[in-house]
Amino acid sequence: MVANPFDLSGKVAIITGCDAGLGRSMCVALASAGCDIVGISRREPHETQSEVEAKGRRFVSIRADLSATDAVPFIVDEALQAFGRIDILVNNAGTIRREDALNFTEKDWDDVMGVNLKTVFFLSQAVARQFIAQQGGGKIINIASMLSFQGGIRVPSYTASKSGLMGLTKALANEWAKHGINVNGIAPGYMVTNNTAALRADEQRNAEILGRIPAGRWGEPIDLAGPVVFLASSASDYVHGHTLAVDGGWLAR
Ligand code: NAD
Repeated sequence: MVANPFDLSGKVAIITGCDAGLGRSMCVALASAGCDIVGISRREPHETQSEVEAKGRRFVSIRADLSATDAVPFIVDEALQAFGRIDILVNNAGTIRREDALNFTEKDWDDVMGVNLKTVFFLSQAVARQFIAQQGGGKIINIASMLSFQGGIRVPSYTASKSGLMGLTKALANEWAKHGINVNGIAPGYMVTNNTAALRADEQRNAEILGRIPAGRWGEPIDLAGPVVFLASSASDYVHGHTLAVDGGWLAR
């Protein structure tokens, strides 16, 4: 047993959607545990970069649109050029479209499935090939949702993508555990980020949601810090294909 099973000193983590919300918080958490970070985003990740560097870790920024898979080889090449290895991949970038199912468009279906599921699979495949080439295993952490477990309302492509992502997490764990690769997920509950601004602004929905959370509050991005470090570290070496709900007890109701 290593002295501190949560220590990530010398590890390199790729995190998608690093510029905001949960991604930004997870970058800082992994950096605090010792990781250097390759952050993927569409915008300049100024705040994330300075917060990671304040922890004494390196931050390499890669600009990419993950709605298509074109950027995948570039991301892996750039990460290897900067650090020579990859140890952790956090598939965090995600998008959502809200509309009644009867009016939902094909574009809103494809846009969400592209970012939340298709690119996640092909980026995971590319990184897993690198893990196998390095011969040291690795960690893949998929950011799922309560809608990996439940149906939701007016978000059919989001629910399909996040339910699919939990299935994919198990499927990849089954194939890659033998290579020392842990594929797991985190299912955040209702968290305070841009993603949920519309829900929080709707007084009735906000009250309904809060009323069901045993912890009595919305989650904050910092609530993912411990779970992501756990799943990125040797503390979780025998955890495979699991999606960990971090939801203030929402699913327990
Ligand atoms: P957010 O909107 O603040 O962040 C989403 C991130 O994904 C941003 O960095 C954004 O730039 C990136 N992204 C979206 N589309 C992209 C694209 N085409 N190319 C590259 N990057 C793209 O929201 P968040 O809440 O921090 O979301 C992070 C993840 O957590 C998402 O997968 C989301 O589905 C999931 N999640 C959030 C909540 C919540 O309550 N906030 C709950 C469950 C799951």
